[in-house]
Amino acid sequence: MSDQQPDIQNQFEMRDPLRQYPQPPFPRQPQEAPGLASAMQPRPDHGESSYQGLGRLQGRRALITGGDSGIGRAVAIAYAREGADVAINYLPEEESDAQEVVRLIEEAGRKAVALPGDLRTREFCDSLIEQAAQQLGGLDILVINAGKQVSQDDIADITDEQFDDTMKVNIYAMFWLSRAAAPHLQPGASVIITSSIQASKPSKNLLDYASTKAANVAFAQALSGQLAEKGIRVNAVAPGPIWTPLQPSGGQPQEKVQQFGESVPLARPGQPAELASAYVYLASQESSYVTGAVLPITGGTLF
Ligand code: NAD
Ligand code: MG
Repeated sequence: MSDQQPDIQNQFEMRDPLRQYPQPPFPRQPQEAPGLASAMQPRPDHGESSYQGLGRLQGRRALITGGDSGIGRAVAIAYAREGADVAINYLPEEESDAQEVVRLIEEAGRKAVALPGDLRTREFCDSLIEQAAQQLGGLDILVINAGKQVSQDDIADITDEQFDDTMKVNIYAMFWLSRAAAPHLQPGASVIITSSIQASKPSKNLLDYASTKAANVAFAQALSGQLAEKGIRVNAVAPGPIWTPLQPSGGQPQEKVQQFGESVPLARPGQPAELASAYVYLASQESSYVTGAVLPITGGTLF
């Protein structure tokens, strides 16, 4: 967390949500995809200095894709502080971000497993689930959170390669990971998929991405129906604009990054730390009667 951000003691402290975190305008900050959290200005808050655990996930074993940065990092920190051992997946070029997360998990006194690799093939997705289950001694929580987002104003500029990559990371990997994980999951286990406000309110510059985020919702809802009889719950989270490397690394044009979050009722982007408690809730027994749900965390935009 940068010194530009208020000193937040923990996630329970009463505050004005309008002023809790930085508001636009933000500096121009282009990065190559997939981007690094460490290069963002202001630095995102993933709860590093504030998230306080209460033992809500004691002894659970979790795999989080995209766990190096952004929402996935905030979830990894929270899960570890709630008592879970955590495996994270990320791309090899994100190793520096990932190592910060490994250190934070270990500082919480939990086991951290780093499993870099590209989710665009079934072979890797299968092996990721096997490695996570083997190194954690089982799997209780699967957070399907990695995502690809490339802004294009004109459908003519969406190449087959971009379209294919977006589908592979956001849809195929979700299917491959879920299919491989299902045999490992016991009653009480939880699958959480990161969708988006784009599922219900697609932006014209995110044609391919928005389509995948709608698919995330339908998939979570259908899979929740299949896995209910096994006592496994499946839910989706639908974030609004969140301050993560996804956006300045091609997810939005730079002018939109500079004004990011201005049009939601709370008039600023959310920080990854503001999503952590929702992922804890959906993973924990506190949400025992919640499955097939979509939880919007949008700064006030209606889902
Ligand atoms: P992020 O850049 O921090 O995380 C995305 C991660 O996806 C990267 O860290 C990377 O590890 C992973 N990834 C991308 N391509 C991959 C590949 N081929 N193989 C393996 N991993 C790959 O950004 P974030 O915003 O925290 O994104 C997490 C999720 O949140 C995504 O699913 C995104 O669609 C969703 N989301 C983000 C926002 C937002 O405004 N930031 C809004 C709604 C939904
Ligand atoms: Mg990253």
